[in-house]
Amino acid sequence: MATCTECGAAGDRCEELFHRLLILDFSRREPWSPLHAVSVSCYFFQHPGRAVDGGPSFYWALLHMYLRDGVEAMHHGTQRARRLNSHRYGGRKPVVEDFPGAPPFPEAGAPPTGYAVTIEDVAVDGTFPAEGFEEREQAWARAAVTAWGRRSRQVRSGPRRRRR
Ligand SMILES: [Zn+2]
Repeated sequence: MATCTECGAAGDRCEELFHRLLILDFSRREPWSPLHAVSVSCYFFQHPGRAVDGGPSFYWALLHMYLRDGVEAMHHGTQRARRLNSHRYGGRKPVVEDFPGAPPFPEAGAPPTGYAVTIEDVAVDGTFPAEGFEEREQAWARAAVTAWGRRSRQVRSGPRRRRR
């Protein structure tokens, strides 16, 4: 069976699954819709070659806030952004500053390619069942953040080890 070259999931149907998940997100139904930003962030981190707008530091900050403070706090950040300038632009897009408290995004080094949890695990049978979705989503977010965070530690410790 083919595997995804970016996230390592068996099946290599990540893009297809992601489109299915987006349809659920935009259905405005729970549990998928409230976690839309988390889904996009996780997918972005595990498939950086197919990047969407916003940039990694934005998704990094958002995922950290979600894992630390929960989905409500994350929505407050998004809503705050929408309120600002609402008279002129109908609200601005959320930016990294709307999700404070995350460690700095590890900029250097190649993206990780192996994750404890991938979209394939979140999809289960390919339909993203509602039961347990929130737990699987959380595990997905944790796997993305953990793998990228590990990479930053490698970057930091690398040159130190070589120094004499
Ligand atoms: Zn993949």
